Amino acid sequence: MDNHDPLFNILQSTSVPYSIPDSPEYDSLRLPYNLRLQPKPAVIVFPQSIQQISLALKAASEAGLKVQARSGGHSYASFGLGGKDGSMVIDLREFQDVETLNEYVDPSTGEFLRGVVAKVGGGARLGNMARKLFQQGKRALPHGTGSGVGIGGHSTLGGYGYVSRAWGLALDRIVAVDVVLADGRVLHANLKENENVFWAVRGAAHSIGIVATFYMKTEEAPLQVIYFELGWDGMYEDMQRFTNTFLEIQHFATESGVVDERLTFGVRVDGSTYRVTGGFLGGEDEFNDKILPALVKNLPAPSSTSIKPLGWIEFLEVCSDKGTLDVPAMGTDEHKSFYATSLTVSESEGLTEAAMEAFFEHITSPPLPEKYFIIINLHGGSRSSINNKDEAFSAYTDRDSLWTFQIPADSDTAESKDFVMGIRNKIIEKQKGTSFGASLSYIDAALSREEAWKAYYRDQEVVERLKKIKREVDPRELFWNPHAITAIGDRRR
Ligand SMILES: Cc1cc2nc3c(=O)[nH]c(=O)nc-3n(C[C@H](O)[C@H](O)[C@H](O)COP(=O)(O)OP(=O)(O)OC[C@H]3O[C@@H](n4cnc5c(N)ncnc54)[C@H](O)[C@@H]3O)c2cc1C
Repeated sequence: MDNHDPLFNILQSTSVPYSIPDSPEYDSLRLPYNLRLQPKPAVIVFPQSIQQISLALKAASEAGLKVQARSGGHSYASFGLGGKDGSMVIDLREFQDVETLNEYVDPSTGEFLRGVVAKVGGGARLGNMARKLFQQGKRALPHGTGSGVGIGGHSTLGGYGYVSRAWGLALDRIVAVDVVLADGRVLHANLKENENVFWAVRGAAHSIGIVATFYMKTEEAPLQVIYFELGWDGMYEDMQRFTNTFLEIQHFATESGVVDERLTFGVRVDGSTYRVTGGFLGGEDEFNDKILPALVKNLPAPSSTSIKPLGWIEFLEVCSDKGTLDVPAMGTDEHKSFYATSLTVSESEGLTEAAMEAFFEHITSPPLPEKYFIIINLHGGSRSSINNKDEAFSAYTDRDSLWTFQIPADSDTAESKDFVMGIRNKIIEKQKGTSFGASLSYIDAALSREEAWKAYYRDQEVVERLKKIKREVDPRELFWNPHAITAIGDRRR
């Protein structure tokens, strides 16, 4: 970029802070979470206000650059860096405020909510946000276990945590947004105002605009959550044991009659340990007397059992991938190099014995990656607050999955790639009649745009509605990543 560049001129005249490839700190500022995918943005801007976001978008538009927001920078496919070289990244590190509002009038019901709705800056980190919400009147939101993950990508693409079957996804808690559109307009969108944008942002914000502020409906933090973790040894030496254990857990989740929305859990498989981890929003006695016996009834005896009644913050800390909620507000201090994919399994079919056997064979047959973990989280099951919504609610339409697999493997070797893709492909192969999808939260960079749309949104009508909104609010397709909604191809036809 030189003095004649329109981008340079606009950024200079508006004093939006920025970093370009020649800037001294550019290389560290662009480091993504996934080091395997390192796009080189033309410029990273650090707006200090919503007006500066508008100005930066104007500059990108005049310079012909594509744009992506970066919130926590934890996209598995580095989409927060644009997903390709030469984009403008709007880094939201200055948008960290978390404020529980004394008064908020629910636009759809007219109800006066006191101390319930929180304003959350588009760059806030989940850990810091959780702590601030708790400090402000002991409030809480459902969200994931990655303390450093940003609310921007997390809540607009899902946001699952160990209370989600009771409280929904982080996305389900958004009641309004302040979003900056491609033409620089700042729009307040909710169920009554700009409702199409509101619908689209929840599932495809990266294609629609930059959410500067989220308004999120919080819950009163529970006094106690039961955290539980059961572990089994010897799972990777015995296919029958591995398969039966999972099928029994699936049976427990869907058929036992004791599982309601208060229970959320996942199964973690990593080649050496096999664990079930989760949270229960009920009493310790009820968990020990009713839930646990039904869970372990037909399973091999666990090698380890940990059941802890915890306060809300302790619960989040124990669940956190970092063991702490306190993360740097700025930048990303976690970096790994990995391949990843995901798989969602429909509620009506679940996983079959043949699919679990194929899964076992694949993860026990060399060559294997040095390190991997697969987490199979329960989304569906009885009274799930994730699955009690449909495509009218939001553009996020994964509302009929029983299980969601997240499948990353550390290292950027061909073995890692074959390993993660093999899990997805082999399960799908064994259940030909089942409709499988993929998770918007765990982006698989290897999917083509069309494959991604089909796997994420499932319903072509949802994609068509997104394209229509895209044409209305971003006709020149300023907001772009390799999986973003694009309607230009349609217009040309
Ligand atoms: C360590 C780790 C732990 C995780 N744990 C969980 C978990 O427990 N549960 C779960 O559901 N998921 C989890 N995830 C997945 C995580 O939710 C997604 O990767 C999420 O998209 C990351 O959001 P981000 O803001 O940090 O990423 P970014 O890379 O900043 O953004 C991701 C995408 O969202 C867009 N975006 C970001 N902010 C905005 C905004 N304000 N307006 C418009 N678009 C925006 C970006 O442009 C980009 O396309 C985890 C990921 C990691 C790496």
